[in-house]
Amino acid sequence: MAKDRLAEVLARYEAVIGLEIHTEITASATKMFCGCPVAFGGEPNTRVCPVCLGLPGALPVPNQAAIEWTVLAGLATDCDIALASQFHRKQYFYPDMPKDYQISQYDLPFCSGGSLEIEVGDEGGYRTTVGITRIHLEEDTGKMVHVGGSEGRIAGATHSLVDFNRAGTPLMELVTEPDIRTPEEARCFARKLRSIWLALGISDCNMEEGSMRVDANVSIRPRGATELGVKSEVKNMNSFKALHDAVAYEIVRQADVLDGGGRVVQETRHWDAGARRTSGLRSKEEAHDYRYFPEPDMVPFAFDPEWVDSLACRLPELPDARRDRYIAAFGLPKHDAALLSAEYAQACFFEEAVEIAGADRAKQIANWMLGELAARLNADGAEIADTRIRPPMIAEIVALVEDGAISGKQAKDVFAEMAETGDAPGAIVEAAGMKQVSDTAAIEAVAAAVLEANPNEVASYRAGKSGLIGFFVGAVMREMRGQGNPQVVNDVLRRMLEG
Ligand code: ADP
Ligand code: ZN
Ligand code: MG
Repeated sequence: MAKDRLAEVLARYEAVIGLEIHTEITASATKMFCGCPVAFGGEPNTRVCPVCLGLPGALPVPNQAAIEWTVLAGLATDCDIALASQFHRKQYFYPDMPKDYQISQYDLPFCSGGSLEIEVGDEGGYRTTVGITRIHLEEDTGKMVHVGGSEGRIAGATHSLVDFNRAGTPLMELVTEPDIRTPEEARCFARKLRSIWLALGISDCNMEEGSMRVDANVSIRPRGATELGVKSEVKNMNSFKALHDAVAYEIVRQADVLDGGGRVVQETRHWDAGARRTSGLRSKEEAHDYRYFPEPDMVPFAFDPEWVDSLACRLPELPDARRDRYIAAFGLPKHDAALLSAEYAQACFFEEAVEIAGADRAKQIANWMLGELAARLNADGAEIADTRIRPPMIAEIVALVEDGAISGKQAKDVFAEMAETGDAPGAIVEAAGMKQVSDTAAIEAVAAAVLEANPNEVASYRAGKSGLIGFFVGAVMREMRGQGNPQVVNDVLRRMLEG
């Protein structure tokens, strides 16, 4: 969809967006109410037990670590932590839930009333604060596979299979206030939340595997109106880009409906990444009747304020603070600092490399990470943890360049080989005999031969054609098989030509 179409719509209508973000607490070794392991994939229905299968007589036991992760999430997003809270049963009939109810939270969530400030756009962007209504804890459902349905949907399927491995996984749900106004703000919010969850270590937040799932509630209203419009809820976005694009699509779709004299109906819509559009799933669910009631198999929680304080002490450095530290301690530009601190694994990588190379080389480390390394990861669709490139290698490559052992151009070749083989840069340089020659005497000898072989060019240069310096540098470098230090070659040639 065209960008200017969205801009045109947003000039007339204000979009109102609230997000519901589910995050599986993959940091937990076990499920929410039983001892089954939490993991992704595997043979269907192998990580199950009487509790997560909902067999009669099985009793749930709450996972304390999962509750602690949730309270940490609340503390990191300025929420109030409830000292009294409780699980409820949410009834619904669908085969992905073996009990026909999901243990969730209702009016007594663990966390509520938080907020998160986001920065939208780079330099010259703006800040806005998004209210966080609540964060509660529940158990994830099983997974349905609709065989024969397109895009895994039930329409057109011949039959459905169900895998309960995921059922019972601790699932944190965060709900925002309808404070978000643009697709970009929605993307920024989700990104920032992910970076906080990663810093806390709650989850791997893998949107493709579904350990972080962002649903967007979208409505529009004429600019200046105060009443909220009718919203649709868009699901099935498995990347930040999909979130952005789905919200943008939905805003324009609703504007088209209103402009055509129609009414937006409250419904759940499905983002089709292939067709790049949303389509209606079900519309009659306005009055959910989940018949919530307190989970009778578990007593309510009464938390100690000291327990909450002890968790607050466990809060690690969050991405914003880390970014500010990178700026203050290493003099990194804000842009670099923000990128490096946003992804926890990347931040750790960076700090490890800086630890080895020294703080005065932090900028060079950042350049390699945000340049070659990022490009490489992007091309491979890989995470930093998946590569053979480790922090000491980046530190070493920076040292080789800074110490003048190899040129910046050679360093790129070394990097490429290192990425392929996982070999240390020093070893690659050795093996290729790639050492950069900075020795003035050696370069002078080659330069003298080059000047002697090209008397006409030397005369032209001395007569004022100073652009010929490139010709001489090129000739010397060729002679030296690219191993001459370009700066030294340049200096030597100029001295010999002009002296
Ligand atoms: P529902 O009853 O449909 O679950 P809620 O009031 O619980 O709706 O809100 C769910 C999410 O939808 C929240 O993130 C909230 O901020 C957002 N939301 C509520 N009303 C609107 C609206 N009119 N437009 C956009 N988002 C909305
Ligand atoms: Zn189980
Ligand atoms: Mg609701």
